[in-house]
Amino acid sequence: MSSSNNQYGNNALRIAASRMPLLQTLRDELDALDAQHLIRRRRTVETACAPNVRADGKDLLAFCSNDYLGLAAHPQLVHALQQGASLYGVGSGASHLISGHSRAHMRLEERLAEFMSPNIDQARALYFCTGYMANQAVITALAGKDAAVFSEELNHASLIDGVRLSRAATQVFPHRNYAALEQMLKNCTATKRIVVTDSVFSMDGNIADIPALLTLCENYDAWLIVDDAHGFGVLGEHGRGVFEHFNLRSPNLVYMGTLGKAAGVGGAFVAAHETVIEWLIQKARAYIYTTAAAPALAHALLTSIDIISGEEGQQRRAHLNKLIQLFRHGLDLKVWESMPSETAVQPVVIGQNAAMLTVAGNLMDQGYWVGAIRPPTVPLNTARLRVTLSAAHTEVQVMQLAQAISRLDQMSYVAQCFAEVA
Ligand SMILES: *Cc1c(COP(=O)(O)O)cnc(C)c1O
Repeated sequence: MSSSNNQYGNNALRIAASRMPLLQTLRDELDALDAQHLIRRRRTVETACAPNVRADGKDLLAFCSNDYLGLAAHPQLVHALQQGASLYGVGSGASHLISGHSRAHMRLEERLAEFMSPNIDQARALYFCTGYMANQAVITALAGKDAAVFSEELNHASLIDGVRLSRAATQVFPHRNYAALEQMLKNCTATKRIVVTDSVFSMDGNIADIPALLTLCENYDAWLIVDDAHGFGVLGEHGRGVFEHFNLRSPNLVYMGTLGKAAGVGGAFVAAHETVIEWLIQKARAYIYTTAAAPALAHALLTSIDIISGEEGQQRRAHLNKLIQLFRHGLDLKVWESMPSETAVQPVVIGQNAAMLTVAGNLMDQGYWVGAIRPPTVPLNTARLRVTLSAAHTEVQVMQLAQAISRLDQMSYVAQCFAEVA
């Protein structure tokens, strides 16, 4: 990936750009990114989301999707989506508040509310096109200029953007530092207080101490908005996510779960007290001013929830948990660091961007596709491989990946020793 042959352009574009100052500015900034090994490129996948994929013409074993239960290409879901298209067509045609709200959406929301009701008082659910929009919607609708928002340091970009858009007074509390949060809450004079956190931190894989956060929120009369993008379907005996995992129930809780990860389809939902949901329908701009997702997706998601909540879901979660243990035990690292994660997100921190890209490239040459994560998605000097495991992987596949990463780490260790001797 030398800068003379970079990923995003060609000479013809460069010459044209030089005659256009605005484009030249972008070209210069892209060149600067390239020099820092921060240019991202997309690979084109020709097959369904599964462990064995073909991307850019190459057969790979993928450990980078968030399809944690292996449902994205499940035959029953494919069939349900086809059936949904037959029943409802392929587009909703309008926003929910005009004429885009179909029976499929209604049934999905009822099903989700029923599913989440053991953990949420008077639960109601609202389906969104994406998790990004759901986060924007719930934060901007609940927090206004008069609110105080307390945001966990490692929150997902969609939460951060939601907080910014809300224009509420915002304080960021350090990662998992709930004593610092308590101090902030103690000093807060705003009557409307909102704490916002990821449940499973998407680039680290560890789980927030939601019970501790909830206690604080109850004591200081604050909402707790929890983004369970990586927990829904995966955590808890029935897959209800992080609230089930910790056995929580409280009127202070607002739940956001995404449906394009473990649920295998797309979209997201907020589950909360029915009054909160009614407020979102009236006020959440990211809900109101967008075309409703295809009803066929909602129809397929009904089947997805059936699978997640049933015996097959339990078996898939059990297999996934076994794979997580296997991977962690299989890793033997001298230089790089794994993180204390019990979830399907298993990062290996390498540090520098260039070194991490070399390792990811080497793994790809061996046929393994793992996430290659750089700043600003993660803090500076913590570039990492983000291995994600899925119930669709086999034990052998997972052990082989752990060995391949450990071998590369060993080589890096040896190289480091030689460098020190020289
Ligand atoms: C993926 C993700 C989202 C966004 O969900 P989409 O449905 O993909 O828009 C939000 N929060 C977290 C923590 C995520 O990982």
